[in-house]
Amino acid sequence: MRLRVLGGVGLVAVTALSAGCGSEPATTKVVTKADTAAKMKQERAAKVAAAAKVKANELGQIPVLMFHRIIPNPGTTDDRTPQQFRNDLERLVKDGYVPITAAEMVTGKIDIPAGRHPVVLTFDDSSPSQLTLNEVGVPKPDTAVAILREVAAKHPGFRPVATFYVTRDMFGKTVREEQAQTLQWLKDNGFDIGNHTRDHVNLRGRSEKEVEEQIGGIAQQINSLASVKPVTIALPYGNQPTKKQWALHGKGYDHKGVFLAGYTPAPAPFSKAFDPAGIPRIRVMEKKGDCVQFCSEAWLDWLKNNPDMIYTSDGDPRTVAYPKFKSPYLRQAFASWSLPY
Ligand SMILES: [Zn+2]
Repeated sequence: MRLRVLGGVGLVAVTALSAGCGSEPATTKVVTKADTAAKMKQERAAKVAAAAKVKANELGQIPVLMFHRIIPNPGTTDDRTPQQFRNDLERLVKDGYVPITAAEMVTGKIDIPAGRHPVVLTFDDSSPSQLTLNEVGVPKPDTAVAILREVAAKHPGFRPVATFYVTRDMFGKTVREEQAQTLQWLKDNGFDIGNHTRDHVNLRGRSEKEVEEQIGGIAQQINSLASVKPVTIALPYGNQPTKKQWALHGKGYDHKGVFLAGYTPAPAPFSKAFDPAGIPRIRVMEKKGDCVQFCSEAWLDWLKNNPDMIYTSDGDPRTVAYPKFKSPYLRQAFASWSLPY
């Protein structure tokens, strides 16, 4: 038996498929449009109630953390020791964050449990301290990947995912096979590979041709080594080219997001404030020196103390839930996903 709801009629009767019989069908199933509407209304009411219960705010801000090397003796304030990195992750666990990748963020695929907050872990410069595989292809202890996987194993639900912004440094590998093995490992284990230009150049003031060579060059290399087309780029030094669109689209690349270097949490991809050509990141540092206000500890404290500003998931990746008064901030492209409460 086939049921079909006809718009405008409001009542559809579908008879048993007994054509040619001539008699009245034994049973007649009736589905009214009102029934369907009532069911949909009920489902939506349940979603709204669930979103309100966890105070979902999918127009809230997302911290995108910017890491560099993970080494025992930091040379610059960009580096973290393995122990510091463990503590960084443990704090994120404690504050209810779940990692998503930069690619997931910019494409709006934020699939985390209700009440949780997304965080994006990004690693620049493809250094060996982030990932080095041992003789049997397992990440060496105290590399960023190994530590992230340890912490995730201890805390189920904390996804071991991150985005690696790659240059020709290729995690210190110079042999093509080893470069391919390392990138392939990332891909096979759910990590996200991003573009960080071929030679780590400052793109400010460069010609369009130079910008395309730098971005397209490494894109081509990544694709030939691991069949991956980066979805996002992180600009070296956070500097945009003369036309910021050059970092998004060019010969050999088509990015959905361009990440900068500082200094605030990022708008949700569903928010009007979201600019794919310039997404801010946060340096990972304690509240000291020039990091008193604008690095990770300060911002994570701020988001914790301002729960109405942080992105909180309703648990359904197909809806964008938020308190009604935030409606003016919804990006029009996501209107059909909206679930105000
Ligand atoms: Zn860099």
